[in-house]
Amino acid sequence: MKIATGKQYIESLRNRGLNIYLFGEQITEPVDHPMIRPSVNAIAESYDLAQTDPELATAISEFTGKRISRFLHICKNADDLVLQNKMQRKLGQLTGTCFQRCVGMDALNSLYSVTFDIDEDRNTRYHERLKSFITEMHEGNFIIGGAMTDVKGDRSLAPHQQVDPDMFVHITSRTEEGIYITGAKAHQTGCINSHWLLVMPTMRLSENDRDYAVVGALPVDAPGLAYIYGRQSCDTRSMEGGSLDVGNSKFGGQEAMVIFDNVFIPWRYVFMNGEFEYASRLVDQFTAYHRRSYVCKTGLGDVLIGAAASIAEMNGIERASHIKDKLVQMTHLNETIYGTGIASSYQGYETKSGAYICDEMLANVCKHHVTKMPYEIGRIAQDLAGGLVATLPSEKELNHPEIGSLLKKYLAGKEGVRTEDRMRILRLIENMTLGRNAVGYLTESMHGAGSPQAQRIVIGRMMQLEYKKRLAKSLAGITEDPEDQEKIIHEATSYFKRVFEHA
Ligand SMILES: Cc1cc2nc3c(=O)[nH]c(=O)nc-3n(C[C@H](O)[C@H](O)[C@H](O)COP(=O)(O)OP(=O)(O)OC[C@H]3O[C@@H](n4cnc5c(N)ncnc54)[C@H](O)[C@@H]3O)c2cc1C
Repeated sequence: MKIATGKQYIESLRNRGLNIYLFGEQITEPVDHPMIRPSVNAIAESYDLAQTDPELATAISEFTGKRISRFLHICKNADDLVLQNKMQRKLGQLTGTCFQRCVGMDALNSLYSVTFDIDEDRNTRYHERLKSFITEMHEGNFIIGGAMTDVKGDRSLAPHQQVDPDMFVHITSRTEEGIYITGAKAHQTGCINSHWLLVMPTMRLSENDRDYAVVGALPVDAPGLAYIYGRQSCDTRSMEGGSLDVGNSKFGGQEAMVIFDNVFIPWRYVFMNGEFEYASRLVDQFTAYHRRSYVCKTGLGDVLIGAAASIAEMNGIERASHIKDKLVQMTHLNETIYGTGIASSYQGYETKSGAYICDEMLANVCKHHVTKMPYEIGRIAQDLAGGLVATLPSEKELNHPEIGSLLKKYLAGKEGVRTEDRMRILRLIENMTLGRNAVGYLTESMHGAGSPQAQRIVIGRMMQLEYKKRLAKSLAGITEDPEDQEKIIHEATSYFKRVFEHA
């Protein structure tokens, strides 16, 4: 059955018998676990948005002709890329957390063009296989988790140099039916909430790493898979009952480590099998899509700015000039992220496969902003919140028959503001800057899609210093070649060609 609504999605996750470990125990039904459920709700919201705003959150499948989630759509023009970003910001606003669908979306789009390239060069059949897989995903309107990051062991060593060969997921055997893979993927967002996983290599590979050059799709309940749930700061608050102390009682993110113990993937779901030369192209293309996908954090930023403005109002200081200035500063930072991300999408261009990819330079600039600006936005939110954001008593004290009334009296803000509402806003700020959703808003902003240095490497590679030196030297009168201006324009490589292209 095709999954259409959030409710149907939640039901589709039941009774799968996944091998999940949390707090030293196996979880039989993750959907109903109070610590896991908020992350399920966050994905469900993406289905519900598709119902209420189909223009934004759905597209027509080129494979089935039916309406599907935009998260499963292959971008065929720049507008498709832009709409992805707008949908991401909206879902960030609605959930205040990571809604866990962008990795799969960006994996599908990057694989679409990389499999096309491999087939063209090597006469393989990966692209057709991938299209059949995408058709299957469109028919069910499924969730795909993108599994790229290996555990990596000694970071200075290539996969084949590691003492333990399982530090990177690799092919252990090939049969007539398919391949078997072993290893582990770390920090896998929404993996337990997905229907399928797409396994991909995490870095540039060499000939000796051939068995690590593997891309394949597998159902989340495939035999041999185990999920070890990742803890988040303040995560057990959702198991205490009540709704105040969690800060955001409905929505949360999810990461787990996925262990692959000789997991079988039939050939029809294998999209790379030893073509190590294409691993770096896949990583580059995936990260280009994914780094501008971090505009999702501007939706979370909108929520946090709203929380900061609300607490200032509740405290009676909303008219103070430094408060207004700090809210302007938060907004400036948030829109700077959005500006670079959306520009990267608007400047998207067609790949040989027909899929559109966003501009890599601007995507990397966007993600690099994201490694810093949410931290500054969070810092200002804590400034406006005051110390209570970290010292507030619990909901149980607020409802206590004896001290509850004292708390209501002494935690009051401006006249007319309910003490409980003031506490709720403070808890939300705590949740996003210190608690569960700080994982999605801060640490994921730092490391997701690559740590800051990964973006600096790409920016450095693409910054075209020779071209820029020519510009300077020409104006400074250093060059003697009269045709130099003309040459400069011709020598501008892809990024500047796009900058100067007329619509
Ligand atoms: C919340 C969250 C969600 C995530 N979701 C996903 C997901 O859904 N799918 C997925 O595939 N991945 C996911 N990731 C993984 C993310 O892409 C990685 O965290 C990121 O690539 C960094 O890898 P690492 O965590 O292993 O850190 P490390 O690689 O250990 O990096 C730590 C530091 O070491 C530096 N470093 C690393 N290697 C070298 C080297 N060789 N030489 C010099 N310096 C080095 C880095 O620059 C960084 O400063 C997620 C991460 C987080 C935090």
